[in-house]
Amino acid sequence: MSERIISPEQENFEEAEIERSLRPESLADFTGEDHIKESLQISIEAAKHRGEALDHCLFAGPPGLGKTTLAGIIAKEMGVGIHITSGPVLEKASDLAGLLTSLGENDILFIDEIHRLGRVIEEYLYPAMEDFRLDIMLDSGPAARTVNLPLKHFTLVGATTRTGLLTGPLRDRFGLHYRLDLYPAKDLQKILVRSAKILNVGITEEAAKILSSKCRGTPRIANRVLRRARDVAEVRGEGIIDKEVAERTLKMLGIDERGLDPMDRKILSTLATHFAGGPVGLGTIGASLGEEPDTLEEVYEPYLIQQGLLSRTPRGRILTPTAYQALRLPIPKGSQAELDL
Ligand code: ADP
Repeated sequence: MSERIISPEQENFEEAEIERSLRPESLADFTGEDHIKESLQISIEAAKHRGEALDHCLFAGPPGLGKTTLAGIIAKEMGVGIHITSGPVLEKASDLAGLLTSLGENDILFIDEIHRLGRVIEEYLYPAMEDFRLDIMLDSGPAARTVNLPLKHFTLVGATTRTGLLTGPLRDRFGLHYRLDLYPAKDLQKILVRSAKILNVGITEEAAKILSSKCRGTPRIANRVLRRARDVAEVRGEGIIDKEVAERTLKMLGIDERGLDPMDRKILSTLATHFAGGPVGLGTIGASLGEEPDTLEEVYEPYLIQQGLLSRTPRGRILTPTAYQALRLPIPKGSQAELDL
């Protein structure tokens, strides 16, 4: 159950449908991230005024923070169409060519997980982004020639959980760069109240406050926790999410008072017991937990680091003194945590 709450992507059709229904459709409805909204608002207004496509736009940050949502909002606010794809799906140059040639004037092409684009596809994107043309190679060997296909002006919106993996040339072709960070509890509280209204379930201010600090700073997780709380409210309570329902839900999901779920605690305790608190590489931790290092880095680590439980060093990951406190374990003699005290 807890895996499901934390998992970065939607799991099934039903989940995707509910997520869609909870997605804000305008900048005004998008909670938090005020600096991004302000900057986007100005760029969108300016582009509309000039009748041009918005600059290419890159969103970076952990999963579930609103990158896809913002791409949809940009399309709505610009009054243009949006075509959605993702890095791993675009395997062949012809896939990309098909997409690019079907775009209408000033449309948005949203590429999720853009850091996972193949090299060849990426090179096709450069002239498309820069000069709105597609250079297609016909034949090979001495008969090879390139045909230039003009494209309509469009905006590429890229989303990545790993800016570090993006090549320099691709990154540089985006005019607008935004980094989304984990949300503060007060913003998540607003998101919970808004989503509860859409899901047609009552929530007390106290309950929203309790849940807001236990959803890893992530709107997608806040919405998932809320849906579990709605189930609990329907089955055990009076159809309203109050303090008791909120606490019951968190207990059921194994989320503790620090907002840590069973997997977080497993990561921390593995580091403490098997690796003397580190430093240890992510690959080694992953192997020992049977979890992909990428998932550890993208999904779990940001929250553990933000909570001051884990630190990332050039030599590997290290448990902090706070983590030992959270685990109720003594700090081992000679460990990095002891030196950090
Ligand atoms: P990402 O693309 O970064 O993984 P999404 O845009 O898919 O994240 O967001 C996941 C869900 O979280 C959306 O369905 C939406 O309901 C909710 N959400 C994200 N950001 C916000 C926000 N700022 N305000 C309200 N809801 C949000």
